[in-house]
Amino acid sequence: MSEFRRDPFLGRWTIVAEGRSARPNEYTGPPPPAGAPADCPFCEGHESRTPPEVAAVRRSGSAPNGPGWTARAIPNRFPTVTPAPTAPAVVSTPTLEREPALGIHEVIVEDPRHGTDLPYLPADQHRTLFRFFRERMRAAIATAGVTNALLFENRGPESGGTLPHPHAQLVATHRIPSRLEEERRAFRTGPTDSPGTCRLENVVGSEIRAGERVVAHEGGFTAFAPFASEFPYEVWIVPDRHAASFADATDVEVDGLATLLPQVLRALDRVRSHPSYNWFVHGDRAPAEGARGFHWHVEVVPRIVRPDGYELGSGVSVNPVRPEIAAAELRTAMAAVATSAGQQP
Ligand SMILES: [Zn+2]
Ligand SMILES: [Zn+2]
Repeated sequence: MSEFRRDPFLGRWTIVAEGRSARPNEYTGPPPPAGAPADCPFCEGHESRTPPEVAAVRRSGSAPNGPGWTARAIPNRFPTVTPAPTAPAVVSTPTLEREPALGIHEVIVEDPRHGTDLPYLPADQHRTLFRFFRERMRAAIATAGVTNALLFENRGPESGGTLPHPHAQLVATHRIPSRLEEERRAFRTGPTDSPGTCRLENVVGSEIRAGERVVAHEGGFTAFAPFASEFPYEVWIVPDRHAASFADATDVEVDGLATLLPQVLRALDRVRSHPSYNWFVHGDRAPAEGARGFHWHVEVVPRIVRPDGYELGSGVSVNPVRPEIAAAELRTAMAAVATSAGQQP
């Protein structure tokens, strides 16, 4: 039986429709090709094919824009937003609003080698990389005119990504994106169980008590399949400590995420044989303003099914996998992949 579920945090409705899970057009793909295409701009030794690097994690003695790095941030050659201040002026009318989409669009190459994959990098490289992610996030939100920054990764052909060499991206703009605005509103309104507890902590607390949708609760984070998950095997990873932005994360918290997120991604690979996915970090640039302010978190969205006409037309997602079943499968897989960092499948 299909079931309407209302997300207790955001208030939006999803349909859980298990009968649709056997549809034949589910996408599961093979691992990315291991060989390095001669023209990949993100491979070590090809640094001249990208714009000059903004920052990098480098072995001592290596020069910028040459080999010797383990992670490298570069401007996106095909940016979603225009680097200021080169955009021409535009004119709005009272009914047709427009403005230059100015901002930062960085690529963060996660490994110098082609054919590697974030979840399977060695644990010490995860820790270094996630601290570099935090450094780039801090730099982005400290930029004049920027009000928000979204760190994200596309993996696989169904993810919207175009280059298989492992990389994350960061887009920072002045205008708050709709999803973040929706979450901001959710934090400011609605009930909480107890004073001093934010809406998301409230949801996480009841998920931990219920248990059936929890994927992991360790290292200062809770990973769970949201009650009204929009996507099959969707997972949210929420830090225990209330803070507005990933930029505010402590070293211990960054290390916790650097362990847990790759483990969740390996579990997902095990359960769904290497699906395409996106993960992104939601947060707010403003300093934490108590229980009504933003609580940063990571959302993992497997791209196993494509939205159909009903979903686009209604704005209601149809999820063919019950979140309780997704969580149970991922929990079992988590144990199996707990120690597999550094082991490329
Ligand atoms: Zn490459
Ligand atoms: Zn909170």
